[in-house]
Amino acid sequence: MKVRKCPTCGRDVIGRADKRFCSDECRIFYNNALRKRKRSRNREQIRAIISNVREMDQADAKNLLRLLERISKVFKIMSTFAKTRNSQK
Ligand SMILES: [Zn+2]
Repeated sequence: MKVRKCPTCGRDVIGRADKRFCSDECRIFYNNALRKRKRSRNREQIRAIISNVREMDQADAKNLLRLLERISKVFKIMSTFAKTRNSQK
C-alpha cells in the first residue's frame, strides 16, 4: 500500500483510506490557508475590475453598473429561494 503524506506537514498519514491529513490541526490549518488564498485571489480580481472600470469611459461604466445591479438581483432571488427551500426541510 502506498504511504500517503499529510499535505500540511508532510508526515505519513495513518488510518482510513480516505484520510488526507495526519491530524485535525493539520486539516484545519490547510483549510484555513486555502480559504485565505481564495480570499486574496478574490481581492486581486476586485482590484483589477476597479482599475478597469476607472479606465472606461462613462457610457461603458454605466452599462457595467447596470449589469452588476442585474446580477446582484439574480443572486438575491437565488439566496431567497435557497432560504425558503431550506426552511421547508
Ligand atoms: Zn500533518
